[in-house]
Amino acid sequence: MTNTAKYIFVTGGVTSSLGKGIIAASLAKLLQAQGYRVTIQKLDPYINVDPGTLNPYEHGECYVTEDGAETDLDLGHYERFLNRATSQANNVTTGRIYQSVIDKERRGEFLGKTVQVVPHITDEIKERIQILGKSGDYDIVITEIGGTVGDIESLPYIEAVRQLRWDLGENNGIVIHLTLVPFLSAAGELKTKPTQHSVKTLMESGVQADILVCRTEHNLPKDLRRKLALFCNVKENAVIQSIDASTIYDVPNLMLDEGLDKVVLEKLNLKSDTPDIERWNQFVHRHKNPKSEVTIGLIGKYVELQDSYKSILEAFIHAGAENEVKVKVESVHSEYINKDNVHLKLGHLDGVLVAPGFGERGIDGKIDAVQYVRENNVPFLGICLGMQMAVIEFARNVLGIKDAASSEMNSDTKNAVIDLMEDQKTITDKGGTMRLGAWDCDLKLGSAIRDIYKSESISERHRHRYEFNGDYKAQMEAAGMQATGLNPDTGLVEIVEIPTHPWFIGVQYHPEYKSTVANPHPLFVAFVKAALLHSRGKRSATMAKK
Ligand code: GLN
Repeated sequence: MTNTAKYIFVTGGVTSSLGKGIIAASLAKLLQAQGYRVTIQKLDPYINVDPGTLNPYEHGECYVTEDGAETDLDLGHYERFLNRATSQANNVTTGRIYQSVIDKERRGEFLGKTVQVVPHITDEIKERIQILGKSGDYDIVITEIGGTVGDIESLPYIEAVRQLRWDLGENNGIVIHLTLVPFLSAAGELKTKPTQHSVKTLMESGVQADILVCRTEHNLPKDLRRKLALFCNVKENAVIQSIDASTIYDVPNLMLDEGLDKVVLEKLNLKSDTPDIERWNQFVHRHKNPKSEVTIGLIGKYVELQDSYKSILEAFIHAGAENEVKVKVESVHSEYINKDNVHLKLGHLDGVLVAPGFGERGIDGKIDAVQYVRENNVPFLGICLGMQMAVIEFARNVLGIKDAASSEMNSDTKNAVIDLMEDQKTITDKGGTMRLGAWDCDLKLGSAIRDIYKSESISERHRHRYEFNGDYKAQMEAAGMQATGLNPDTGLVEIVEIPTHPWFIGVQYHPEYKSTVANPHPLFVAFVKAALLHSRGKRSATMAKK
């Protein structure tokens, strides 16, 4: 396939965490809204083959694509902004690059040559960058390069970009460099020097930035932009300010005001138009002007870090806007919940979500939380480990199976109501071996879930090793916990619900990965609605007392 796509490379300088992913996603949104077919790719310079084995403390949430790739959380932003699925090709790591080159070497594909970073590793990077462009599915590919220029790990990527710009020819590949313009309060001044240095570092590798996007806390005055343009070899209209925003969903409009899309299209020799972001703006308006408020508890063990449950938090924003409700998410550390304090910790909440997770830490608190919401009619959504905890809680406290457990945490239990399937028992490698990616699920007639999705069958993304043990299904159903979603091929239980409870649903899959601005996830929308009803009920009960 010929390479007809145009390429935009996004690099970062000065410091990490400047929000390259959001800038890339916002630009992509503006280009998409002018009729271009756009995709975004993230290149991560670390040596892990994928972030699936990384602790969320280390790298935030692991995002899962339709095709089962465990990827960087920036891919979540790409999907949420563009409403288009990404795939394995959208996330490449140094580990993956090296693995592929070493495999080729073992197969003898380099014909006796010495295998080196240049050209073999850089060739592999260039090939990976062009996979999406050569597919014919996209007009523009945005490639975000993780890390900060000057890092040792980033060098082969920057070299690949340098070469590719030549290979692609003029107007076919451009570089956007994202930097920081700090404000020194003691001097009362914005400082350009770090940006100048980082552009210079990029130039030492032979790459000239075409556009600068400058993160800043204050507006960049005209003379400062002129100075940056002069010292960094870019045109004045190519110095774009990216001022701190109250929500990431404001960034596309901020970039539009700065004319980022226009400069990009001009440099790529493509036609520019007024982007149609009407629907996007309606969402932002609803998000910023809620009519009421609910508080939902997020019970997990990575509560200190916003990034660990990124997709869940974003799904609440989409669902909140859809309901015109502000969803206040209150993180509750499951390790500190017990039977004595559970009322104190959860009593004021309008809904409770028990989060996904791995390992033993904090699971008793999760089980106590489920028991509390089940007995007190508080809306409950359990996701993955959260659903498994709901099954264990029901088995223990309703069926009276005291040693009911998951074999993940207790491999000796006689009652593994959550257990490994046969095909998982022989697996020893941890990376990429879970049940991953999109799986079909049939929804039971008359169930709440079928009403929520308004569909007989769905497809959702998974990331887990353990499953509902079918041996207990009949007992559980007889006691009131229904299996209302089943995988059509394996019969595995994907959804449980308690019909006698106002809103109690556990799902083995991760609905949060598929919630986007254009398509808020129906399960989150329904959960927020249930929380709103619950809060109104609580309010009228208190009023009646008065
Ligand atoms: N630890 C559980 C499993 O592997 C749940 C995983 C999750 O919540 N993503 O089955």
